[in-house]
Amino acid sequence: MRVLITGGAGFLGSHLCELFLREGHTVIAMDNLLTGRIENIDHLFNNERFSFVKQDVTNFIHVSGSLDAVLHFASPASPVDYLRWPIPTLKVGALGTHKVLGLAKDKKAVFMLASTSEIYGDPQVNPQPESYWGHVNTIGPRGVYDEAKRFAEAMTMASHRYHKMPVRIVRIFNTYGERMRIEDGRAVPNFMTQAVKNRPITVYGDGSQTRSLCYVSDLVSGIYKLLLSDVNTPVNIGNPEEVTVLELAELIRRISRSKSKIVRKPLPVDDPKQRCPDIRVARKLLRWSPKVGLEEGLKRTHAYFQAML
Ligand code: UDP
Repeated sequence: MRVLITGGAGFLGSHLCELFLREGHTVIAMDNLLTGRIENIDHLFNNERFSFVKQDVTNFIHVSGSLDAVLHFASPASPVDYLRWPIPTLKVGALGTHKVLGLAKDKKAVFMLASTSEIYGDPQVNPQPESYWGHVNTIGPRGVYDEAKRFAEAMTMASHRYHKMPVRIVRIFNTYGERMRIEDGRAVPNFMTQAVKNRPITVYGDGSQTRSLCYVSDLVSGIYKLLLSDVNTPVNIGNPEEVTVLELAELIRRISRSKSKIVRKPLPVDDPKQRCPDIRVARKLLRWSPKVGLEEGLKRTHAYFQAML
């Protein structure tokens, strides 16, 4: 296949570029480097099947030659990032999705949208199945990301129904691993950096809110299986191993053999109280389930952060 990956220099995008190259495909990565980094893909430039285009996908995009698949992964994805760049986040989810869908349609390529567990908002059912419609504050600070991704899902399904395009929608739950930015602001990079430097570990609120964390290699293998499937409706990909944020902080402190104290900071506005993927659809239709447990994945991630810091 010849594949375009928007957001290809980001955390997930760069792991996807690697996976597709490893599977023998040709990869074009596109990124405006707002939150993506060239260092993430530096090692791929000597592969003749890899190329990179620096471009903002909210403007007209063109790629010469054929494309078999287009994966739209461009977007700030950390709450800190999308609060810092609210308008670019709305634009890439809305205008960007429109542009990238247009390109996929022109090339008769399969279109995949990187959607998110954030479309469920602060969910009132746990775990969250794909059939749950969500509980989102449209005008809150997280609304810029949640609503952009909800619009993107609507746009993707409309293109599927109206233009008969083959589409895939992956609802990505919290993912962690190598190449997350140190200043990314999410729980795992924050706790890792703080633990390695023996600085206070900042738990927001009382730490009783839950998350379910998926190691990056499991996530990209699920995405790959979804792309190769014929499932046009949304599929949750994530690890259902649910922990409280306080448990996560303690686990990272133990793995890092850190002397850090755990300190409390205010809970961000609209921070979801619970999050856990119901992955029965992925298990049944894709025969996919995560393989790397939380402790094992965090040990690998810790080695990366230690080397970076
Ligand atoms: N969090 C925290 N300390 C930090 C960063 C995050 O306690 O330094 C909490 C945050 O409030 C949330 C959870 O960890 O409850 C996961 O946050 P993250 O930013 O990783 O992603 P989210 O799942 O909220 O999109």
